[in-house]
Amino acid sequence: HSLNQSLAELSDINVSFEFFPPSTPEMEELLWNSIRRLEPLNPKFVSVTYGANSGVRDRTHSVIERIQKETELVAAPHLTLVDASDEELVELAKHYWNSGIKDIVALRGDLPDGSPKPTRFANDLVRLLRSVADFDISVAAYPEVHPDAKNAQADLINLKKKIDAGANRAITQFFFDVESYLRFRDRCVAAGIDVEIVPGILPVTNFKQTKRFADMTNVAIPNWLHKQFEGLEDDPATRKLVGANVAIDMVKVLAREGVKDFHFYTLNRAELTYAICHTLGVRPK
Ligand code: FAD
Repeated sequence: HSLNQSLAELSDINVSFEFFPPSTPEMEELLWNSIRRLEPLNPKFVSVTYGANSGVRDRTHSVIERIQKETELVAAPHLTLVDASDEELVELAKHYWNSGIKDIVALRGDLPDGSPKPTRFANDLVRLLRSVADFDISVAAYPEVHPDAKNAQADLINLKKKIDAGANRAITQFFFDVESYLRFRDRCVAAGIDVEIVPGILPVTNFKQTKRFADMTNVAIPNWLHKQFEGLEDDPATRKLVGANVAIDMVKVLAREGVKDFHFYTLNRAELTYAICHTLGVRPK
């Protein structure tokens, strides 16, 4: 009862929503229905991913442009540096700034299999963007450690470098072990990282796909989560309710721990994200 009461009193929660560029007309319709559904929740920004090495930066741009043109939302493209030269990135950054795009999610991006060891990292991209204009820059953080990192401490130092280069906030990889996020946040504070470590919330509807993502990204799937989805392989309707419940439980704990900013990996679906936001007291304007 007291938790619900304190949640009802929350007033300064900020949310942001992440989408990916659709590849078919059906997916485009799904995306736009979701954007329209979530727009009244007045997110701080919405971001659109870019598939590093996919060669289709255009698809990200066209979604961003349409969001700018047809909605009141602040649109933030994701930008990766692995597949572009510094010169290309400077040009792109100038183009973004001149077309009113002031928010960017700055990433290294994943390297194609068999690539040589990289020499440029996301902190280089942050520095480059800062040299072009006064962007609002988000970077990635990994509570359970990035798969390529030498160790947790090296990964934390890398995050510190990105913030020192001028990033405004960190958005975390998705996670289910809330304790690992809270410990990571404490370690960030201890390391002198003074920006928000915004938890990236992945509402789960497709558990099989989530397990695959988690495997690739070094994210732990706790036993309790396996148990939650056990036996629901052919029952998408129940999975959806369970997924909403899991995420709502997580955000309640995070909100109680003082988290005020939440980023949602919507996977272009609005329903669960909308319900979770509602629980957090985020309501239409
Ligand atoms: P970095 O911060 O550069 O870190 C990459 C790795 O290198 C880490 O292990 C780090 O510890 C290590 N490292 C850093 N500096 C050094 C150094 N000097 N020497 C040795 N090792 C070093 N990918 C996409 O392709 N498109 C997207 O739109 C996208 N969006 C994302 C959004 C979020 C919120 C998150 C969390 C991830 C996203 N990704 C995306 C995935 C991301 O591109 C990959 O995780 C990528 O492998 C690392 O990117 P980064 O920006 O974290 O890299």
